[in-house]
Amino acid sequence: MHEETSAQDLVDPFGRTVRDLRISVTDRCNFRCQYCMPAEGMQWLPREEILSFEEIERFARICIQTFGFNGIRLTGGEPLVRAHLPELVQRLARLGVDVALTTNGATLRLHASALADAGLKRINISLDSLQKERFLELTRRDELDRVLDGIDAAIDAGLSPVKINAVMMRGINDDEIIDFAEFGREKGVTVRFIEFMPLEAGDIWNEGLVVPAQEIIETIDQVIPLEPVVRGNEPAERWRYSDGNGEVGVIASVTKPFCGNCDRVRLTAEGQFRTCLFAVDEFDMRALLRSEVGDDAVAKAISDAVGTKWAGHAIGQVNFIRPKRTMSQIGG
Ligand code: SAM
Ligand code: SF4
Repeated sequence: MHEETSAQDLVDPFGRTVRDLRISVTDRCNFRCQYCMPAEGMQWLPREEILSFEEIERFARICIQTFGFNGIRLTGGEPLVRAHLPELVQRLARLGVDVALTTNGATLRLHASALADAGLKRINISLDSLQKERFLELTRRDELDRVLDGIDAAIDAGLSPVKINAVMMRGINDDEIIDFAEFGREKGVTVRFIEFMPLEAGDIWNEGLVVPAQEIIETIDQVIPLEPVVRGNEPAERWRYSDGNGEVGVIASVTKPFCGNCDRVRLTAEGQFRTCLFAVDEFDMRALLRSEVGDDAVAKAISDAVGTKWAGHAIGQVNFIRPKRTMSQIGG
């Protein structure tokens, strides 16, 4: 039975209302993307340190019922390596919230219809190259064909929208911008180009590797004309193709950060709460969830943590501190 409760907005010190929760369900992954994990020697969290589905569901319910959160995205690591993920999707969808997933797509053919049946709506599939050899070099796995098939499986299962996330890196894959745009138009999916951020494991990031979103749009516009779409409260700047065949997005996390509109918080696989991808502080929600305290105490801890949310990251500025953890450990 649904109990009617009146949620109160969770507003941070800069007046932004927090409504979006990213949950990492595992730190493990079946890929070893150059910018995210080392080739060998990742230390995985022991199973007992990872939040159970019950713990995740309780935390999500508190966010939704107490603070009116309206979106949850599951991520990782690779979320599809966590067993029985559709069961978690179903538990969260029942809370009446929009549930989305970010995946590398490698095993999506096996799971897409179960995820759709469980109530998943939106899916983002990460893909940084459409070339077999380059894909292997970037991810250290020869899985391009399976990822492409996973994209088809998501479309076949009726997941919508299906978006492709492509991180662009200068001199590494930025010669594929037009190929990606054409791929998206052919498949009827939105490609979103993402600027490379300083979070990676291999310490390869430098500003010279960032391909500015503006340049990506200009490159596409010269070949396939574009028109801007009025931007909502979202990190992606959206453009539509002038011939009416689809949309493309850019996420300018480095050159034009969207921190001013940020409505996100994150929960890592082991239950650490973060108010920013680049935050240096974490708040131990697992300790609370595994103690005797009630939902009110958890809600207070969430509210207190959000009270420390900062104005924004400072990538490229002298006071920027690179987080000690990689994207796979935080939950991208
Ligand atoms: N394994 C899933 C995947 O790859 O989609 C989900 C987790 S992954 C950490 C989430 C997203 O973070 C991916 O789209 C990946 O490309 C992106 N990512 C990882 N490291 C990044 C970095 N340094 N800069 C920009 N994006 C990054
Ligand atoms: Fe795995 Fe995603 Fe990180 Fe690649 S980006 S290593 S697929 S978690």
